[in-house]
Amino acid sequence: MAHHEQICGFTPYTQSIHRVEGTTVFMAPTDQGDRLVVIGGALGFVGEREHREDKECLVAPLSHENAQRLRQVFPFTAPRPGLPGGCSMGVGDRLGVATAGHLRVFKRYPQVFPVLAQQSIRELNLTQRSYEEVLDCATFAVFKAGYQGGFGADGDHLKKPEEIEYALRCGYSMITLDCSEHIRGDAADLDHDALAARYQPDPELEAIYLNREIAIAPGITLTFDRDSFMRTVLIYGEAIGFMRDIYARYVEGKPVDFEISIDETMTPTTPLQHYFVANELVRHGVHFASLAPRFCGEFQKGIDYIGDVEQFSRELAVHDAIAKKFGYKVSVHSGSDKFKVFPAVGELTDGVFHIKTAGTNWLEAVRLVAMKDPAFYRELHAFALNSFPEATTYYHVTTDLGRIPEVHTLSDEQLPELMNHNDARQLLHITYGLILTAKDEHGNRALRDRLYALLDRYADDYAALLDKHIGHHLELLFSSK
Ligand SMILES: [Zn+2]
Repeated sequence: MAHHEQICGFTPYTQSIHRVEGTTVFMAPTDQGDRLVVIGGALGFVGEREHREDKECLVAPLSHENAQRLRQVFPFTAPRPGLPGGCSMGVGDRLGVATAGHLRVFKRYPQVFPVLAQQSIRELNLTQRSYEEVLDCATFAVFKAGYQGGFGADGDHLKKPEEIEYALRCGYSMITLDCSEHIRGDAADLDHDALAARYQPDPELEAIYLNREIAIAPGITLTFDRDSFMRTVLIYGEAIGFMRDIYARYVEGKPVDFEISIDETMTPTTPLQHYFVANELVRHGVHFASLAPRFCGEFQKGIDYIGDVEQFSRELAVHDAIAKKFGYKVSVHSGSDKFKVFPAVGELTDGVFHIKTAGTNWLEAVRLVAMKDPAFYRELHAFALNSFPEATTYYHVTTDLGRIPEVHTLSDEQLPELMNHNDARQLLHITYGLILTAKDEHGNRALRDRLYALLDRYADDYAALLDKHIGHHLELLFSSK
């Protein structure tokens, strides 16, 4: 980043210089790392007072209380809702240092609303981070880059009331409600007699749905016969009650993007099931911004789509038509690296969709390690191989470790290429939590500390890798435009 002016002996990040009520606020590097500097009135920031060049300066650390104050003084550093209408993209940042690279991309795509903070409880636990910290990292990065386009913060895949309370208390602008614990997927395989035995007749619902032609869009009509109706009610009835309850208790009347997630199921969401869930919610006054169905094929972490792209496209067109009929948009989860389907997602939705990526910035960090410190990469690789069995208890993947080249047979120059190899990508993708939290014999998080030191030293290279990688996602998503 170019430094033009010196202010009171600091060399501010140029884009971060802001003036408000006669006070100048900026971020600048110091011997202790980046600091906020406030000149001419403290504005409520907390730090060390210094007298420099006849001026009173406050040098404030990047703490939680200063992040809160920053969000009040400069509202563009606070998350806000922004999903409805166009394209939005969630980019989880598990390390808390990826936002600078992400913002390079989003400055080129002003039509995309970025959700810069996005973390599930599972990710918080695996990285031992908090919602406060995840959001604060985004706030400081947005201020440093002077990005004023607005951004969201997503409490991702929340399942329990206390998780939703936690995310909202921290100021998150989006709640993704994971309904999987209330979806009765076992009813998907029942035959007619078994369905009829379990189904409790509901005349009101039957009058609305059964044997009616439901027009979705020109050329798209849906009809529930008795079996598909009973099956849908049995699978989703309880989950819809859960969605309505959470909405009424936490979301209604609040400025929050509400996403319904029904993607974590064993079988793909049929158009009938999608329609039923959406219509039941809308009929009961639940407003939501997006819904994530489970698509056909496999959306595994860190690798391209596995499945029939033609079938995916046909089904996406119907899901999108249902969403458009009600005025929300389809959300695509595990969207990192799904290059085969991106052109269809952009084109069939007419650019109105939400997509979530998460692991990408972690793998690009690992790629940076392989480029800059091959010996360290070899250590990470060996550690990941040892931790792989434990990691597969959190993530479903079809990784074949036998297809990964033995690293001792590779030259240092060949190591970064491993991050283009599906099995090696998944190996390092799913072991991130174990790598980041591993303690050595002295109780230090040695791997984590070395990784952060490297990312700090090569921050510009890291941002360039993310710019290229996420940029490639957006090029394909917008390739039909
Ligand atoms: Zn999901």
